[in-house]
Amino acid sequence: MDTPRDSLVARLGNARRIAVFTGAGISTESGIPDFRSPGGVWERFDPNDFHIDRFLASVESRRRYWQRSTEMYEAILQARPNAAHRAVTRLHDLGQLGAVITQNVDGLHQRAETPAQRVIELHGSTLHVGCLSCGWRVPRQDFQPQVSPEGDAPPCERCGGLMKPATISFGQMLEPRSLERATAETRQCDLFLVVGSSLVVYPAAGFPMLAAQRGAPLVILNREPTPHDGYADLVLRGSAGEVLGPALDALEAHSVPPLPA
Ligand code: NAD
Repeated sequence: MDTPRDSLVARLGNARRIAVFTGAGISTESGIPDFRSPGGVWERFDPNDFHIDRFLASVESRRRYWQRSTEMYEAILQARPNAAHRAVTRLHDLGQLGAVITQNVDGLHQRAETPAQRVIELHGSTLHVGCLSCGWRVPRQDFQPQVSPEGDAPPCERCGGLMKPATISFGQMLEPRSLERATAETRQCDLFLVVGSSLVVYPAAGFPMLAAQRGAPLVILNREPTPHDGYADLVLRGSAGEVLGPALDALEAHSVPPLPA
């Protein structure tokens, strides 16, 4: 009888354009906590502190925001991509990846060498800083040294506006361009693979539903049940790297190498 992993390998093998949709769960094996699991971010921080209104409210709340963000940024810099991030790159190398649609802000897909143009960061990136007034963006590594240990960050050097890590906070709009690209990839894919997401944060969690409505097979790999499991074609319970690493080994073993030019 086929195991769930055999079924996963068979589905990956049949697909030509896979949309991989990732959440914080793909990065826990790299040591970055997710939000909702035990030990996750919500056990340490008040979600309201991540709301844009809180950031705008006062100098003091902005200091707190920058201090927390700095802590997360430093943890992200220490982290290394894991077997699951590498598996996504391996799908790309096999010519089967349409795009990665990620809710993560840690840049680990790119550091695993999935080409940046294939990674759609729905919730922005911790690795950049942007001006809330004029939209000017700078790499975080150039800006971070100017942030004091107390959390004081300098204003935008172009317009004097407030500088904020380029992640989408609660209450902020997602970038229309990212939403458009993610929608197009979801419509074009012939397999939609969810990895490590609780699928409760919208609008991101609407993409698996859109894929299923369009008739693309939906596969969900997550440690815990999600609200979308009921209409998935295949649900795998397990750790992302432990499942995807061996699945890619099997896929590569069966893949036909391209003919020499
Ligand atoms: P979430 O915390 O709501 O859900 C993560 C899910 O992944 C959980 O259901 C958990 O059971 C599962 N999981 C944890 N480790 C796993 C593993 N190794 N293998 C398989 N499944 C695993 O996170 P979410 O769904 O991404 O949504 C919440 C928000 O969290 C997103 O908006 C994202 O921006 C933000 N976030 C990002 C990071 C990051 O960039 N790494 C970290 C924390 C939060």
